[in-house]
Amino acid sequence: MIARTMMIPHSRPAIETADIRAVTEVLQSRRIAQGGVVERFEHGMAAYFGLPGGVAVTSGTAALEVALRALSIGSGDEVLLPSYVCAAPLLAIQRVGAIPRLVDIDLGSFNIDPSAARQALTPKAKAIIVPHLFGLSADLTELEALGVPIIEDCAQTLGATEQGRRVGSIGILTVCSFYATKLLCAGEGGMVLSRDESLLERVRRLREYDETPSLHPGSTNLKMTDLHAAIGLAQLERLDSFLKRRRWLAEEYRATLSGVGLVVPTVPTGHTHTYYRFVIRLPDLASTADGLHDIIGRFEARGVQCRKPVFRSLHRYLKLDGFPFAEEAERTALSIPLFPALTDEDAAQILQALRSEWS
Ligand SMILES: *Cc1c(COP(=O)(O)O)cnc(C)c1O
Repeated sequence: MIARTMMIPHSRPAIETADIRAVTEVLQSRRIAQGGVVERFEHGMAAYFGLPGGVAVTSGTAALEVALRALSIGSGDEVLLPSYVCAAPLLAIQRVGAIPRLVDIDLGSFNIDPSAARQALTPKAKAIIVPHLFGLSADLTELEALGVPIIEDCAQTLGATEQGRRVGSIGILTVCSFYATKLLCAGEGGMVLSRDESLLERVRRLREYDETPSLHPGSTNLKMTDLHAAIGLAQLERLDSFLKRRRWLAEEYRATLSGVGLVVPTVPTGHTHTYYRFVIRLPDLASTADGLHDIIGRFEARGVQCRKPVFRSLHRYLKLDGFPFAEEAERTALSIPLFPALTDEDAAQILQALRSEWS
């Protein structure tokens, strides 16, 4: 019997000396609220996407909300979004008073299905929120053909490409999240980016409540602090190496898992994957409702924390029917730990657990 060592967590941020030093410098400067470091982080992220600017806010959820407000989306307007994603986009739509129009996914990519989106389209549709799930770009080319403004939700995908274009550089607005477990973390935080300076100016006005010539209805306080931005900026410098490590781990997992009856992540032609998550699909467990739960428990016993990658499909919150692929994903998708701070020993333990379960 091997002694149980510490559980390998599903996710853990890559915090190194550079991050600690960056935060310390801000503390020593005594300028700890929104200031020059936030501005540098905004410029750095914008440059990463090849966009002229970005506006940092407190979270990805807040970024989605102000993105909708900047487009003047509100009561009576419809916003399309996939059913298989976390609740943040749905809540942002509801908070601005708009109507969510849920769309089923493409099971191969876990992303919004463009043809289902076309069917959900009405003249009231004012935008479509397109999350690029698990590190893989949605089919932006097909989605652009719908003729509705695209808000790219890059909370889970940075650095991926679609037909040679960088994800996050294509929609009218792009939102990011810097939550602790995201590709690039700051603890909490978000950003709205765009090539349209007037939209960014609207977001800036919503983010701050003071020192404006007139009182702007809807303005609140969504400012990021220099302490958080310092971590984000230090992480941004290492983002390419993070992504490289993720790709390497993904190829190791793929080699181990190919040919054991599981569905490993597929990468459509013309797309690249950055493996924010390594999500496999198990043989359909519909007959055993607790199948996924049982497997997660068995992995935990082997010291590996796996997760359902999406907690609950959004149509279930809204008590809607007709989302078979989102439901199948919810029943069969399992996320295996994959993050740059994972050591080679951790990766070997994960692969051993996978082999014991399925070969
Ligand atoms: C994490 C996440 C969000 C929300 O970001 P927060 O910073 O946690 O508010 C939005 N969309 C997607 C796809 C996410 O993964």
